[in-house]
Amino acid sequence: MDTRFFAAWLEECARVVHEQREYLTRLDAAIGDADHGNNLDRGFTGIRQALAENAPKTPGSLLALAGTTLVRKVGGASGPLYGSALRQMGKALGDAETVGLAELTGALETGLQTVRRLGGAEVGDKTMVDALAPACVALRRAVEEGVKPQEALSRAADAADKGAKDTVSMQARKGRASYLGPRSIGHQDPGATSTALILAALRDVAV
Ligand code: ADP
Ligand code: MG
Ligand code: MG
Repeated sequence: MDTRFFAAWLEECARVVHEQREYLTRLDAAIGDADHGNNLDRGFTGIRQALAENAPKTPGSLLALAGTTLVRKVGGASGPLYGSALRQMGKALGDAETVGLAELTGALETGLQTVRRLGGAEVGDKTMVDALAPACVALRRAVEEGVKPQEALSRAADAADKGAKDTVSMQARKGRASYLGPRSIGHQDPGATSTALILAALRDVAV
């Protein structure tokens, strides 16, 4: 996976987030402040522009630029969390020109650690962690089994999607939704949902 692959991933993220922005905002209207779709759409539009203006040479520098852009453009909780995660993923990849599945898995695990460290959420708290953590577990297992990248990324996307759906029955313990207490139960978490879209985009560019 080279710089073009990662650029295609972010481009696909931008497309899907734009397409799904009203759905994401509707989920956030139920348990938050109805801005998640617009936040991410603004962020990924910014990433598109930044990549067009800069054309980073390595996967690591591309993800780092994308992360910095998200932190700058998105004010909500998701901007700093996704942005810092992408930045640390970029750092984890160093200056390699191509990235294998094992390195990508390690970078995604670094992204998860970053989100957990900054946001303090664990699995079960009804946040993006509930989609990202199972995706990392599925990827790690696929690496250990020697599964091909395409199949591994497909399993990761499925795990993230299931993780997002599992947030419906959870009570939120982090972020705005936690203010609702038990009334947050019965709604799918917007951030876990966007994480599932981002991992589906990764699967879709891998074919
Ligand atoms: P805001 O809530 O500030 O308006 P967004 O609506 O863009 O920001 O993003 C909300 C999403 O951010 C939530 O659905 C949740 O998945 C995620 N989130 C919020 N707080 C945390 C946290 N402390 N740790 C991990 N994820 C969080
Ligand atoms: Mg919001
Ligand atoms: Mg907000």
